[in-house]
Amino acid sequence: MRCCVSAELAELRPYLVAIAAVFGAAIGSFLNVCILRLPRDQSLLRPRSTCPNCKQPIAWRDNIPLFSWLNLRGKCRWCHKRISAQYPLIEALVGVLFGVSLLAYGLTLHAVAAAVFGTLLLGIAITDARHYIIPDEFTWGGLVIGLLLALGGGVAGFRDALLGAVVGFVLLWLVSVVGAWVFKEEAMGGGDVKMMAMVGSFVGWRGVLLTVFAGAALGSLIFVPLSLKKKRLVPFGVFLALGAVVAFVFGDAIIAWYGHFLKGD
Ligand SMILES: [Zn+2]
Repeated sequence: MRCCVSAELAELRPYLVAIAAVFGAAIGSFLNVCILRLPRDQSLLRPRSTCPNCKQPIAWRDNIPLFSWLNLRGKCRWCHKRISAQYPLIEALVGVLFGVSLLAYGLTLHAVAAAVFGTLLLGIAITDARHYIIPDEFTWGGLVIGLLLALGGGVAGFRDALLGAVVGFVLLWLVSVVGAWVFKEEAMGGGDVKMMAMVGSFVGWRGVLLTVFAGAALGSLIFVPLSLKKKRLVPFGVFLALGAVVAFVFGDAIIAWYGHFLKGD
């Protein structure tokens, strides 16, 4: 019986991945609205989307993820002003993310967590890079989702998620306090602190440590050479987001390797 169920699932797999990808592209379309409006404290529901140039409302047929942008060749239907490629790019990215999550983790809560976590991190990375803002909807909202998903995964999972959220928050809060004291200016915003509470609810407390370590390493590798030319604020959330992806995907393997390494076998 078991074999037949999994055989049937295997047969359905390409369709399920396609459905997940289409659903992901729709979520990506919503993420575009979040990225545009949350840093400006605007409502996500009202008003309806309009062309930023001619203010014409965007009809549903011009709002189909990926397809509409391609169909209109990247221009507004009414005023022909170019529409940023960021919109279809994010729709495609989130679509791929949802498809790959299902492929990698199957029909599980783990796959749902991977897709949701990746979407939140993408939103955070873009708003932080563009505006140096990490909206509460992504951090506090994501924390609630992360804890709920952990609840669905069993008590041990929930405990680790809760502990991860606390460790993430306290660790980054300490870094920000010490940083402000050493550099005499705010080195890290409250958004990063709240972000790490959210990240902890998805990856647990070991994952938090790994995220901060990987984020700092990637940040110094990528950002320091760039910022040597001119002094710029560090969008640390971008690097924490990259670190969090490393922790979510490779965390168990890295932590197991590190454990063997410490024991010397
Ligand atoms: Zn227009």
